[in-house]
Amino acid sequence: MPLDLVTVPCLSDNYAYLIHEAATGATACVDVPEAAPILAALDERDWKLSHILITHHHHDHVGGVAALAGATGARVIGAAADAHRLPPLDEAVAEGDTVRVGMAEGRVIDVSGHTMGHIAFHFPDSALVFTADSLMALGCGRLFEGDAETMWASLSKLAALPPETLVCSGHEYTAANARFALTIEPGNAALVARAAEIEAARAAGRPTVPSRLADELATNPFLRADAPEVRATVGLPDGPDVAVFAEVRARKDRF
Ligand code: ZN
Ligand code: FE
Repeated sequence: MPLDLVTVPCLSDNYAYLIHEAATGATACVDVPEAAPILAALDERDWKLSHILITHHHHDHVGGVAALAGATGARVIGAAADAHRLPPLDEAVAEGDTVRVGMAEGRVIDVSGHTMGHIAFHFPDSALVFTADSLMALGCGRLFEGDAETMWASLSKLAALPPETLVCSGHEYTAANARFALTIEPGNAALVARAAEIEAARAAGRPTVPSRLADELATNPFLRADAPEVRATVGLPDGPDVAVFAEVRARKDRF
């Protein structure tokens, strides 16, 4: 049975996610920008938190871990590579490892680039992937610690997941991402339509995440290094994909 998914807005533009397995009652929170809205979301549903899954060390993703773990006794799971700079972990994982939430199994994917040691959690049976600041709706995280090659390798792994997968990313940056994406691929009809949907969603106060991987593949400029219009825009019609990606990322930094 697929996991129930709840998107929890936190701080000014962060998202945490709750996943809940009805059969066992197991409930995990992915990233903890702050504890209070997550405790309220659990309370509302009468769910008891069993696991906290951490994607990367930035404060806006782990700032509430100690408080939430303290209040719930949940088991804290994060990247072994980042254990020295994460809140205390009960379980340290690396790419290829499996995390269990009740009977549900999540596969750990190394998605370094934004930070080194950033991981994603893929729950194939529920078609969910938690990507935080790696692949984002119409965007990708800034390259703070990794280089373009590293991020491109990470994004390529995520792009290869089943297209129906829901991408649960860490921020509400989508409207700004859409404005940038339109400068890279203005002739992409799917992108133009999605940008209009995003404007409407934000005007109505609705989150733009999670998003469908198929839509990211069709519209996210950071996944579209092979698209002729993207290549033409950045002046690399015949360059390698990673060079096109690097130039798109560099332009976003200046946007
Ligand atoms: Zn971050
Ligand atoms: Fe972040």
